[in-house]
Amino acid sequence: MAKSKKKKSKSPVTLDFAPAPESTPVPLRKQYDLFIDGDFVAPSGGSYFRSVNPATGKPLARIAKAEDADVDAAVKAAREAYENGWQPMPSLERGKYLFRIARLIQEKSRELAILESMDGGKPIRESRDFDLPLVAAHFFHYAGWADKLSYAFPGKNPKSVGVAGQVIPWNFPLLMAAWKIAPALACGNTVVLKPAETTSITAMHLAEIFQEAGLPPGVVNIVTGAGDTGAALIEHEGIDKIAFTGSTSVGKKIAESVAGTRKKLTLELGGKAANIVFDDAPIEEAVEGVINGIFFNQGHVCCAGSRLLVQESIHDEFVARLKRRIDTLIVGDPLDKNTDIGAINSKAQLKRVQKLVDSGIAEGAEFYEPKCPLPENGFWFRPSLFTNVSASHSVAKEEIFGPVLSVMTFRTPAEAVQRANNTCYGLSAGIWTDKGSKILAMADQLKAGVVWANTYNKFDPASPFGGYKESGFGREGGLHGLLPYVSL
Ligand code: NAD
Ligand code: MN
Repeated sequence: MAKSKKKKSKSPVTLDFAPAPESTPVPLRKQYDLFIDGDFVAPSGGSYFRSVNPATGKPLARIAKAEDADVDAAVKAAREAYENGWQPMPSLERGKYLFRIARLIQEKSRELAILESMDGGKPIRESRDFDLPLVAAHFFHYAGWADKLSYAFPGKNPKSVGVAGQVIPWNFPLLMAAWKIAPALACGNTVVLKPAETTSITAMHLAEIFQEAGLPPGVVNIVTGAGDTGAALIEHEGIDKIAFTGSTSVGKKIAESVAGTRKKLTLELGGKAANIVFDDAPIEEAVEGVINGIFFNQGHVCCAGSRLLVQESIHDEFVARLKRRIDTLIVGDPLDKNTDIGAINSKAQLKRVQKLVDSGIAEGAEFYEPKCPLPENGFWFRPSLFTNVSASHSVAKEEIFGPVLSVMTFRTPAEAVQRANNTCYGLSAGIWTDKGSKILAMADQLKAGVVWANTYNKFDPASPFGGYKESGFGREGGLHGLLPYVSL
């Protein structure tokens, strides 16, 4: 393409969009109780905590705080439902419930997407176009497996495990619930789920869907609360299988507490993924992919491409293009359809991000952020970039879990592999190159559960997801995702 002087202009084309706020009414309640044995019940201790809208800092609703006695009641209800209804039921019938749930999620997906954005801060474009379609797709996928388990494990006799205790984080509240609940039920188990304390609202709307689908009482129970509620669930003797997604530090605690018990365990923990860009990559696509890889969902993504490894020969041009693109990102109201980057999930998370960024600056990395204005209230962080990062810097090693990209360089494919694998994590990685053989050779050597090539953050219920090293063990999704929920 002939390059005119004008085309090389450094100033980005910024378009002023008129605000386009989502206006569909939603059934937000003032108070959410626990979901135990098919009913909504008040917590035994009578206490509630507030869930905040991170875009305003204002409370949205009161959420029940489950005490040990409530967790116990939920586990007992799950056991009763397992023994007397769900496990003996013909698998074809179990599958029908899952199909019904999937269809109801589709019907209500708009309001669920809005509630997800209000409670968690993610842009409506993502909750509407990414989270909710995948939530429904996971229920459909596992509905299909329910009566085909003998084909999933040929020659074996797959049996359910029992009662699953599942603890999930705040970054993809409904999607994590779907990843956990759908395969568990498909294999004939029953569930007690604990959502994250900042994002419990949509889980309670999912409970209403279970009621509407006629799911027998006790098959899924939902207990809300913070870490102590999670710990009570994990430590409960009536649990046969634990599935946890969240921080590596809590994951380690759980692994310790489960050691020596009969409980089965899968952990999906943090990440510090490398997005590797070679000099022969389609550069515009790679810029978009790198931007999507780190700024998607405010960087609240365990598989976020938070380290950019760019080949030295194109470093300056690539970074210049990244900065121009970052300057055009729209930060603001999660309910506005134009928004690219919403609110940071909580004040505590904002503090964590700020602290890690401060340490990056103190260690001498070069910090870049756009000048975009931020809303006055709520929790916000501009999409930002660290260059001149060395492998020993904390921003190259620690998971920031915010919209912050650390840029490093490499010269040869071997060096790229060495640098990418130089982390205690191993959840995902990205490769950008024109050359297929390079993709295959790199993917072979990268110690990461998922490797994307010339794309990033692509998900499908049929493909397994999970980590190496301190990113955890066990897989979710696809046929592999059935394995933790069966005994063979
Ligand atoms: P966290 O691990 O503390 O919370 C995740 C879930 O575990 C929540 O439901 C929480 O209530 C529960 N929990 C907390 N302590 C527990 C305990 N002792 N026993 C049982 N359950 C417990 O994560 P966080 O504090 O919300 O976030 C901190 C960091 O975790 C983030 O900065 C990020 O690095 C990481 N994180 C990772 C993911 C992921 O998808 N892998 C998701 C969210 C957060
Ligand atoms: Mn909230």
